[in-house]
Amino acid sequence: PVEQKLQKILAAAGLTSRRKAEAWIAAGRVRVNGAVAVLGMRADPKRDVIEVDGRQIQFSPRRYVLLYKPPRTMTTLYDPGGRPTVRDLVRDVRERIYPVGRLDFMTEGALLMTNDGDLTVRLLHPRYGVEKEYIATTRTPLPPDIGDRLVTGVSLDDGPARALRAVRLGERKVRLVLTEGRRHIVRRMLDALGHPVVHLIRVRFAFLTLAGLAPGRWRHLEPAEVRRLR
Ligand code: URA
Repeated sequence: PVEQKLQKILAAAGLTSRRKAEAWIAAGRVRVNGAVAVLGMRADPKRDVIEVDGRQIQFSPRRYVLLYKPPRTMTTLYDPGGRPTVRDLVRDVRERIYPVGRLDFMTEGALLMTNDGDLTVRLLHPRYGVEKEYIATTRTPLPPDIGDRLVTGVSLDDGPARALRAVRLGERKVRLVLTEGRRHIVRRMLDALGHPVVHLIRVRFAFLTLAGLAPGRWRHLEPAEVRRLR
């Protein structure tokens, strides 16, 4: 039997992060073969019956999908308003996969989706500083020094924001690389500088670009890509 730490099994099943799984175990919410589990316990997901809050866990293989999210799509699994969601676009993937971070309804571009809870938590944590590269088109002409201004940073109502790198590509186009992911961050940064965004595309998430993908299409990551992300 291949025994693993219980928290690792729960995280690998895509349920939660390792740390939260430890809290679940400590709180007595996890059972192995009917007995309440204790921290440090090991189990074999192929042999043992593992339950959380009385429900048996299904072990599905980990999936890593890169989606070219089109505009007019919600980065949620279900929209009460009936708008199209990213879930609709990855129907062919049998496992329940979740978006890693969000793109606005009108924003298009690279969106990673996975059932690997540990990886998701890590990629979203500011400490890891995952690079996100965007190309924004603005309503008004951009000054020649827009790149410098974005790198110097702007002050937003929830704190300062700055780009890691930024380059003016044209009269109304700028490419910027950010390591954070606050809500509407690109739109708010450019708004703060007086240039409302009329089109926004994320061309890269970490090292994953849109190469080979069309809007609305997705691909599985290569094993080497998964290793590089982890
Ligand atoms: N910044 C935004 O303003 N919107 C996005 O979707 C992503 C980053």
